[in-house]
Amino acid sequence: MYDFIVVGAGPAGSRFARGAAERDRDVLVFEQGEIGRPLACSGHVSTDIWDYVPDSAHDELFQNEIYGARFHVGGPETDGEAFYKHESISNAIDRVGLDKTLARTAVEAGADVRDHHTVTAVRERHDHVAVVVKGPSGTETHKARMVVGCDGPRSRVRSECDLPQPGEFLHGVLGFDSTPDHQDFVDVHLSVPKFFAWRIPRGDAGVEYGLAVAPSASVPDRFSAFCDAYGVDVSHRCSGAIPIGPPRRVTGRRSLLIGDAAAQTKPFTGGGILYGMRAADHAAREIDPEQPGTLGDYERAWRDDLSNEIRLGHWVRRAYSLPTPIQSLGLQALSGEIGVHMDRPSTLFSREQMRTLLSQSNR
Ligand SMILES: Cc1cc2nc3c(=O)[nH]c(=O)nc-3n(C[C@H](O)[C@H](O)[C@H](O)COP(=O)(O)OP(=O)(O)OC[C@H]3O[C@@H](n4cnc5c(N)ncnc54)[C@H](O)[C@@H]3O)c2cc1C
Repeated sequence: MYDFIVVGAGPAGSRFARGAAERDRDVLVFEQGEIGRPLACSGHVSTDIWDYVPDSAHDELFQNEIYGARFHVGGPETDGEAFYKHESISNAIDRVGLDKTLARTAVEAGADVRDHHTVTAVRERHDHVAVVVKGPSGTETHKARMVVGCDGPRSRVRSECDLPQPGEFLHGVLGFDSTPDHQDFVDVHLSVPKFFAWRIPRGDAGVEYGLAVAPSASVPDRFSAFCDAYGVDVSHRCSGAIPIGPPRRVTGRRSLLIGDAAAQTKPFTGGGILYGMRAADHAAREIDPEQPGTLGDYERAWRDDLSNEIRLGHWVRRAYSLPTPIQSLGLQALSGEIGVHMDRPSTLFSREQMRTLLSQSNR
């Protein structure tokens, strides 16, 4: 019997598998397709990402350095207010490459990672879990002490184990223009209901255009209108769900969720790569597969680390729905150099941010 069966080899699953295998747990990972594909993510992350991959992966994954964002209250025809730092805030990276790198580190740590295997059912018993998997050689059932649902926003493990759903899903869509662009600012357009549209320069990899809104039939048309306003014809369109939460519980009797399956995302950007990996580290450290009671330690640890940031992230997101004149005034008043960290809305209230605001008001 395995210690853990991990469902999904995205960032959360591979990071957990690596951490657990490094602690000498027997770990089996199932990924339904090719690792990293299909792409449904911007791969726009804070520079913290480099703490999670080997140094040797930097050049392969890095696409562009970002120093700030221009916030627009409308489309590309409106002027943007710039928020920036003098050092790099974030990077655009190769997201497919990231997933492959993280899966490789899990294998190197001793995890058994099997792609093209789809988990179709999970049964929690009093002393084990049984996981049914469809692979190239047919349907198999594997046993483990615990099942770890890292299977993304529409998690199968979550529904099989009767765990609560996230409160909200957004529909994110993106596409690419292949013209190289090495600018160091992203553009954020508060021009869609309750969220935003974006333009991300990705160096030699071109430019990405995207938006996220509540799911509806009009999402593709909104996206086309946004690209038309920029005068670009994008290719490789893709889309995915963004869960906003978190739910009140992400652990069962012998089951746990990590990453998008647990809605461990930033409500004001939809980003979940780093929150999911931080939660994965808590899970690998806290959970002893022979002691189901330690699932509670994981719940406590990840919530201690992230729930305050997620709560503040919900507050930041409320500003996207303010009337346009108020948004304009607010952006004008606050624009300029900032001292915030993009994964930590709490830094909006930090001493560094206050100092930066004061020094601007004294200019
Ligand atoms: C349009 C868009 C843009 C985004 N941009 C960013 C961004 O710039 N920065 C950022 O931080 N986040 C971004 N995100 C969010 C980010 O993609 C997710 O938070 C992140 O991928 C979550 O990682 P994960 O490992 O939890 O889940 P996933 O990356 O979704 O991985 C889940 C894996 O499980 C596999 N799987 C699913 N079901 C099964 C099954 N039954 N059996 C076996 N395998 C299964 C899937 O194939 C997948 O590989 C974006 C999301 C969208 C939709």
